[in-house]
Amino acid sequence: MSTPSHSPVIIVGGGMAGLALALLLRHHGQPGVTLIEAVTLADNGDPLTPSFDARSTALSAGSLNILERLGLVAPLLAQAAAIDIVDVSRRGRLGHARMVAAEEKLPRLGAVVENRWLGRVLLDAAAADQGIEVIAPMQVQSVRRLTSGYQVALPDRELTCDLLVAADGAHSRVREWLGIPAHHDDTGHDALIANIGLSRPHQGIAWERFLDTGPLALLPLTGERMALVWTGTRAHIDRLAALPQDAFLDALHDAFGEDRLGAFTHMGERQRYPLVLTHASAQAVPHAVVVGNAAHSLHPVAGQGFNLTLRDLALLAHTLGGINAPGDLSVLNRYVTARTADQALVSQASRWVPELFRVRFGPFAHTRQLGLVALDLWPGLRSAFAARAMGLAHGQ
Ligand SMILES: Cc1cc2nc3c(=O)[nH]c(=O)nc-3n(C[C@H](O)[C@H](O)[C@H](O)COP(=O)(O)OP(=O)(O)OC[C@H]3O[C@@H](n4cnc5c(N)ncnc54)[C@H](O)[C@@H]3O)c2cc1C
Repeated sequence: MSTPSHSPVIIVGGGMAGLALALLLRHHGQPGVTLIEAVTLADNGDPLTPSFDARSTALSAGSLNILERLGLVAPLLAQAAAIDIVDVSRRGRLGHARMVAAEEKLPRLGAVVENRWLGRVLLDAAAADQGIEVIAPMQVQSVRRLTSGYQVALPDRELTCDLLVAADGAHSRVREWLGIPAHHDDTGHDALIANIGLSRPHQGIAWERFLDTGPLALLPLTGERMALVWTGTRAHIDRLAALPQDAFLDALHDAFGEDRLGAFTHMGERQRYPLVLTHASAQAVPHAVVVGNAAHSLHPVAGQGFNLTLRDLALLAHTLGGINAPGDLSVLNRYVTARTADQALVSQASRWVPELFRVRFGPFAHTRQLGLVALDLWPGLRSAFAARAMGLAHGQ
């Protein structure tokens, strides 16, 4: 085999996390980034990797601020729906909390973009950047530690790098090769997603409804459509997935329990995702870092997974900006330490909020209702909560 070619940074995984990191690193002056993805990235511009499937992503205002630095907000918003209001409630109980963009003095609380469009925008930006070399479809065979970096073996050649990034998803092979164990917590629940047609406009309201069976979210999309994320036990989701379309829309109307959206008129393809929460036991070792779903995958209850990842990646790229040795563990540890509190808070919250809302009786049920009422009545508390949920809190 010929002499390995060298790249300062190699990212394995061309999903949301890998692509976003490549663009952020370049924005912060990294001279060269190589991105290796296992599957064909796109066909006629349409992304094909698993990140960019039929789902939609609620991007927080903080994520939009990060993407703005890359010049991606205008193309994203060309096919995204603004979130002007977030409404959180528990079906069959008093009290709900509303966050309103105008009250938070924000143009919008966030925006919802279909993953296929998000993928297209990220891929177009990566293709336009001469400093990003994309190798796909390509399977990494193995990685080997060198004194000052890693050697990455592909079927037809070898590459070396100062910094190796594992962005290859929850079942990351790279994380395994780095010797970093991960904890996988199977919640026994699935998320079912589909796009739903409405009989009247959604008015930019994102609904988060806590049912006895688990949370249900309806997020505004372009046109009179909403993105549904319905979570419940696998048996419950089996039943919902098997329903004919009309029966499914009736079941959704009953579960949502409000008439404010009018009738649900039609729906797109249903897809489901097992809710297995992954947590890597370390995110940095000498010359390597683990990001995105490979580092932490969350319950989609509040749509925080990619938002949390973007905050991670923005700080990682900022920390490495202008540094000649991006693999230096003390530098990587500085990044990991600075991200610990936000990561812990968001992953704990997305783990416990669905549980808390499932409790029907006893002190928790009461506290939860008080919490929702307090949030609705006390603007200061609501603003603090909104700032954190929108990724705008201090230090994020
Ligand atoms: C139902 C649902 C709804 C969600 N909604 C939201 C939301 O509204 N807002 C939000 O912020 N987040 C949301 N999320 C979370 C978000 O989808 C994840 O944070 C995001 O997909 C993580 O992307 P990733 O690139 O880390 O991983 P992945 O999407 O898993 O991508 C990993 C990539 O690595 C590639 N790969 C794997 N192995 C190899 C290999 N050996 N070599 C090369 N490449 C490899 C894969 O092909 C893939 O392209 C949601 C998640 C779910 C399940």
